[in-house]
Amino acid sequence: MELLHSGKVRDVYADGDDLILVASDRVSVYDVVLPTPIPDKGAVLTRLSLWWFEQLADLVPHHVISATDVPAEFAGRAIRCRRLRMVPVECIARGYLTGLGLKEYEKSGAVSGVPLPSGLVEADRLPEPVFTPTTKAPIGEHDEFITYDDVVAEVGAETAVELRRITLAVYRRGAEIAAERGVIIADTKIELGWAADGSLVLGDEVLTPDSSRFWPADSWQPGRAQFSFDKQYLRDWAAGTGWDKQAPAPELPADVVEVSRARYVEIYERLTGRSW
Ligand code: ATP
Ligand code: MG
Repeated sequence: MELLHSGKVRDVYADGDDLILVASDRVSVYDVVLPTPIPDKGAVLTRLSLWWFEQLADLVPHHVISATDVPAEFAGRAIRCRRLRMVPVECIARGYLTGLGLKEYEKSGAVSGVPLPSGLVEADRLPEPVFTPTTKAPIGEHDEFITYDDVVAEVGAETAVELRRITLAVYRRGAEIAAERGVIIADTKIELGWAADGSLVLGDEVLTPDSSRFWPADSWQPGRAQFSFDKQYLRDWAAGTGWDKQAPAPELPADVVEVSRARYVEIYERLTGRSW
C-alpha cells in the first residue's frame, strides 16, 4: 500500500480505490508529538469513531467500508474507507465557549463572524450551538476562523448551507447522546468530503477526544477551566515539568501513561456504555 499521508497521529494509505486510515498510539501536545505512546489510544479512538458513525448514520452518510478488512498489523485501530475529496474547511460546532473560540470572543465579541451575547465567561453554555468554521492550515501553520461568507466564497452557497446544517446536526445528536451519559460535548470538529457522485459524506474521525472536548457534566462550572477527558491531563503534566513546548517533548513516566490511557478508556466506556 502507498503511504499517502502521515499526520501527527494518523497514517493514511491508499489500497486501490479505498483508503486505510490507521490511528497510532501517538499523542501530540501543543502540536508536538510526545516521545512516549499511550497504549490502546489508537484502538480506543477508532472504535469510538465507528460507534458514533453508526449513531449518526441517519443524519449523514459516512465513509466507512469495513472495520475488519484491514492489514493484520493494523487490526483494531484502522478502518477501510471510501476515498473522498475533502472539503477545504474545518467544520466546527460549539455549544460552550472555550479554547480558541473563547480567545476569539474576548477579542471581537464574535466567533467566525457569529455575534455572541456579551459577558460570557470560560466554559459558558451558548444560547444555541454555533457553526464556527476555520481554514484547514497546512502543517506548521494554525487554523484561522473564517466567516460563513468566506465558506460560501470557498465552496458555494449550496454546499455552505449543507456544511453548516450537517455540522450542527452532528453536534446536537452527539451532545444529546452524551448528556444521557453525564458528558458535556463542549465543541467538536468534523471533516466532510465529496463522494464520486458529488454527495457530501462524513469522513475522518468523529466525536473522539482528539476532535472534541468532553467534560463531566456533574462538575461543570463556568468561569474556570474544566476537567476534560482529552489531552488536558498530558498538557498540564508536560507544562508542570517546565517544558518549553518545543520539540523534543519529555518522556512520560509509566504512571502518567497509565492515567492517560485510563482516561481514554473511561470516555469510551461512558459514551458507548460498552466495557473496553
Ligand atoms: P494532524 O492531525 O497531524 O494535524 P492531519 O489532520 O492532516 O494532521 P491526520 O488526522 O493524522 O492528519 O490524518 C488524516 C488525514 O486523512 C486528514 O488529512 C483527513 O482530512 C484525511 N481523510 C480522512 N478521511 C478521508 C477520506 N475518506 N478520504 C480522503 N481523505 C481523508
Ligand atoms: Mg486530523
